[in-house]
Amino acid sequence: MNLDLAGKTALVTGGTRGIGRAIVEALADAGAKVAFTYRSSSETAEALKADLEAKGVACLALQGDAADTAHAEETVQAVLDAWGSIDVLVNNAGITRDTLMIRMSEDDWDTVLETNLKSVFNFCKAAYRPMMKQRGGSIVNISSVVGVTGNPGQANYAASKAGMLGFSKSLARELGGRGVRVNVVAPGYIATDMTADLNEKAQEAMQGSIPLGRVGQPDDVAAAVVFLASDAGAYITGHTLHVDGGLAM
Ligand code: NDP
Repeated sequence: MNLDLAGKTALVTGGTRGIGRAIVEALADAGAKVAFTYRSSSETAEALKADLEAKGVACLALQGDAADTAHAEETVQAVLDAWGSIDVLVNNAGITRDTLMIRMSEDDWDTVLETNLKSVFNFCKAAYRPMMKQRGGSIVNISSVVGVTGNPGQANYAASKAGMLGFSKSLARELGGRGVRVNVVAPGYIATDMTADLNEKAQEAMQGSIPLGRVGQPDDVAAAVVFLASDAGAYITGHTLHVDGGLAM
């Protein structure tokens, strides 16, 4: 199985922490040059970049809001200017603003939809033409089990993550003829800052409902992304790969 990404270039949104960071490190381990974005954690971003460069990995750390169209265009251009191609795009940046619908404000809705879904449109749009011209590329969009099952208190988040599925399948159909693959990874319950706030009772209940009987780790998700990004996944497009310990089957 060919998981080798030597000579390839990759861009990951939201790469400083949690799942995004694990993806950045796994793509680098597979041999890719890796650019990543972040919104606010500059110190962490610079430390990660320095770590990767110390291992001989070419790296770019670019600050900005993934929901901002100009930032997406500038970021993709920066990758092209530095390395001449964009082979792998991972749309990972995401947030939650959980509350029951009765209390959900228009701002809760707009902010989550813009950060989680419009960002995917932004980066795919910016990478679309270069990948088409290259006649190759792999886009992996990070959705969520919640986009498939729904969850009380997460109507905004679930809508943003479900939206990714239809978006990605449409793009897979548009770009397949040009050798560009578009897939989705839908993680279940993964131990990161995003889930750290759940109280112990909720964590135990969640764990009890996972057939594999454990919470997922960021590396579990990163392994699936490397598979889809690499030639090992060469005949897979328009697919949603569930990395959730069996939660959503
Ligand atoms: P974290 O909160 O741990 O990390 C989020 C990352 O995204 C950070 O690097 C953060 O940067 C960045 N980010 C947030 N908002 C923006 C923005 N507007 N522009 C650019 N970067 C941004 O999240 P996770 O690692 O847990 O989640 C990563 C993805 O996986 C998300 O899309 C999430 O919805 C999805 N997911 C997570 C699950 C889980 O259980 N953890 C389950 C299913 C899906 P900074 O540090 O600068 O804020």
